[in-house]
Amino acid sequence: MDRDKILLTPGPLTTTLRTKLAMLKDWGSWDADFIAVTASVRKSLLNIVHGQESHVVVPLQGSGTFSVEAAVATVVPRDGHVLVLDNGAYCKRAGRLTTLMGRRCTIHESDEAHAVSASVLDGLLAQDPSITHVILIHCETGAGVLNPLQAVADVCARHGKGLIVDAMSSFGALEIDARTCQFDALIAASGKCLEGVPGMGFVFIRKAILDACAGNSQSLAMDLYDQYQYMEKTGQWRFTPPTHVVVALAEAIAQFEAEGGQPARLARYRANYEALVQGMAGLGFKPFLDPAEQAPIIVTFHAPTHPNYDFKRFYECAKQYGFLLYPGKLTQVETFRVGCIGAIGPNEMRQAVHAVAQTLQTLGIAQG
Ligand SMILES: *Cc1c(COP(=O)(O)O)cnc(C)c1O
Repeated sequence: MDRDKILLTPGPLTTTLRTKLAMLKDWGSWDADFIAVTASVRKSLLNIVHGQESHVVVPLQGSGTFSVEAAVATVVPRDGHVLVLDNGAYCKRAGRLTTLMGRRCTIHESDEAHAVSASVLDGLLAQDPSITHVILIHCETGAGVLNPLQAVADVCARHGKGLIVDAMSSFGALEIDARTCQFDALIAASGKCLEGVPGMGFVFIRKAILDACAGNSQSLAMDLYDQYQYMEKTGQWRFTPPTHVVVALAEAIAQFEAEGGQPARLARYRANYEALVQGMAGLGFKPFLDPAEQAPIIVTFHAPTHPNYDFKRFYECAKQYGFLLYPGKLTQVETFRVGCIGAIGPNEMRQAVHAVAQTLQTLGIAQG
C-alpha cells in the first residue's frame, strides 16, 4: 500500500493533506507574493508567544539545531559564559554546540528522569558571577521531561542573566507568554508542534538586546542579526529560502489558528498522550517518567524484557502495521519512544496501540 505511515516521532511529523498540497507550487524568493508569505508567517509566530511588543522573530534555513547554534552565536558575546542546565540528550547537544562556537560553557548535569531545578540554578548563579547566559531546554525530548520555564526565567531575570530557551518540541503546544516570561532568545522550528514540514527554524530575540547582538556571530550563514537586518530592509531572506517549507508552514499555521491555537493543540496532544499511555498500560508497558515530570509531547517506555525483544525488529514490525516508532535516547535503560504530536488524534493513538499489540504477538513477546 502506498498510504503514508503515521509518524510517532518528535519530527518530522505526520502533516495534513492541506499542508502537503501547499508545497505543489514554485515561488520566487524575490517575488512580492513570497515576501508577503514570509511576513505573514513572522507575524503569526510573534502572536503565538504574545511577543509583538518585546521580541522580533528571525527565521533561519535548516533543521532546528541550526537555529539553536545560530541563537547562541548571535546572542552570546564571544567572551560570554553559558550555563547549560542538562537533563538529557538535547541539553548535551546545546552544550556541545556552545563550546564549538567558542563560548565558555559550564554544564550542570542532573538526573534525566527529573526536571531541572530553578532553586539549584539560583545557587549556581549566586556562586559564579561570570555566567552571562543560561540555556534551558523547555521540553527535553530525550526522555520527554517538561522543564520549569517560568521559574527558570524568573531566576535568570532576578540575577540579570540572559536566558536562551530551546522550545523546539514545546512551541505551539505548551503555553509560552513573552509578556510574563522573560527570555533573550527562544528557538523553535517548522516541523514540530506547528505541524509544518521540516526545513526551517525561527528564533525570538528580545528587542532590548538586539542591537548588542551585532558582530557577535563568528559565522556568516548563522548570523541572526544579519538575517534580521536584511529581512527588515528587503522583506527577503538573506540567502535562498526554503520556499516550499515556508508556504507549508503558512498553511499549517492557518490550520493551527482555525483549530483554536495553542490551547486547542495542547488539548489534542494531551488526549493523544492519555490514549497512548492508557492503551500501552493495557499491554503491560510502563512509562519511564513519573506523570508529574512528563510533557504530553513524547513518551519514553521501558522496552520489553523478553529475550525476543530487539528494537529494530520491533520497529520494522510496527512499521508493517503502519506506524513509525522512535528509538530511546537514554544511556542507562533500554527504552523506546512514542511521539504524541503531529496531525493525528486519539483514534490514531488507539490504532497505534493496536499495532504494538499485534507486533508483540508477531514477535512472540509476552508482556508481564
Ligand atoms: C527536535 C529538537 C531539536 C532540533 O533537532 P533537529 O534534528 O535539528 O531538528 C532541538 N531541540 C529539541 C528539544 C528538539 O526536540
